[in-house]
Amino acid sequence: MPQLSFRGGIHPLQKTHHGKGLTNQLPIREAEAPKLVAIPLVQHIGAPCAPCVSAGDSVYMGQKIGQVRGYVSAPVHASVSGKVVAVEPRLVAGGATPLCVVIENDFQDRWDPSIAPMDPALLDREALLSRVLEGGIVGMGGATFPAHVKLSPPKDKKIDFLLLNGAECEPYLSADHRVMLERAQGVLQGVAILQRILNASRCIIGVEANKKDAFQALEQAAQGSGVELKLMKVKYPQGSEKQLVQALTGRQVPSGKLPMDAGCVVVNVSSAYAVYEAVALGRPLISRVVSVTGEGVNQPANLQVRIGDSVASLLRQCGGLKEDVERLVSGGPMMGIALLQEDVPVTKGMSGILALRKAQLGPREQTACIRCGRCLSGCPIHLMPFELCNDCERNDWAAAEKHGALDCIECGSCTYVCPAKREITSSIRIAKRQIMAARKK
Ligand code: SF4
Ligand code: SF4
Repeated sequence: MPQLSFRGGIHPLQKTHHGKGLTNQLPIREAEAPKLVAIPLVQHIGAPCAPCVSAGDSVYMGQKIGQVRGYVSAPVHASVSGKVVAVEPRLVAGGATPLCVVIENDFQDRWDPSIAPMDPALLDREALLSRVLEGGIVGMGGATFPAHVKLSPPKDKKIDFLLLNGAECEPYLSADHRVMLERAQGVLQGVAILQRILNASRCIIGVEANKKDAFQALEQAAQGSGVELKLMKVKYPQGSEKQLVQALTGRQVPSGKLPMDAGCVVVNVSSAYAVYEAVALGRPLISRVVSVTGEGVNQPANLQVRIGDSVASLLRQCGGLKEDVERLVSGGPMMGIALLQEDVPVTKGMSGILALRKAQLGPREQTACIRCGRCLSGCPIHLMPFELCNDCERNDWAAAEKHGALDCIECGSCTYVCPAKREITSSIRIAKRQIMAARKK
């Protein structure tokens, strides 16, 4: 079978098979039930939720505890049954301190009695969409865009393709891999629901070639469904939406536009599984698979974790960290966020916790650009990263805008390949913020 791909991109950590061997053969294991969960009221792109419980309230597992306050938002639910002990600001990955609902677990796992399974075949499009919204589902690959919004394109945008993102192109991570392999039937049931909501004539699941076992599991589950399976080359950032659209359909998403402008909607495979659980089982998104990995972790694992459990607790369950760990990351090494402390909650978009050792990071002393062009050939958007970096060093935001800074997807490929160790992606990130701030004035 041919392997599809896009122009540009890089092959990070190729010599160590992208670091995935630490966890990709390990079955998903249920994490210990946490004593306490701290569930942030914003775990998505968009408006934070308003709390609908107070300290002292008893809650069921799956009960709604945060109500949406805008269209672009997603409700949050209790991941354990027990007692609310506080509704207060808490530190989360990324350094923000959003309002969190803190619940003491009663270890009874009492589901909200209003939760009931439903045959999706008996529901019309609006009812399916409503169960997706009520399930609090967001993009679980890290983008955290509310699923019901993505599944409601404007009427003038005809969706031809539903594309399932099974690339998981970030090194080290294997959460999606294990979901595809172990829960293929559920993923396919989610796909069928998504296809009905979007009325898309074609559905393609794209899987990177380093997950052939997952590909086969999905292929078997998809038999007779009309869903197409495509293998994609192992290349970063294959799972970025625009690159996935190009690889699977040959279509280009225009600059500044979304996949829907090219007739496509892209959904992560773990999100598709969450859609199945929300619609068919009535269960909201209250737990997810997290790869706890990296050479700095004593016993790497793929854990099924309650939302709101702490990173510290997961690290403890994985044998703790090695002494020379230099960096802890939420997500993968390319686009993940550095964690400043372990006492932060797991959220819906947290696909991995990565611990890197000092020896792996190497020196990061910056020197002058040698005009080697590596950043240029690695950029999947075909920008001129070295030029953008120069613009940023001069604080010339107008030039950065002209050179396409807003099209940068912050994939980190340019920084990774730069022999001069220039902090190109961080500079462009700052430029994007400056350009957007200037536009709002
Ligand atoms: S971070 Fe931006 S400029 Fe750098 S390679 Fe990725 S898309 Fe291109
Ligand atoms: S990769 Fe680094 S050194 Fe090479 S052209 Fe780009 S910015 Fe300059």
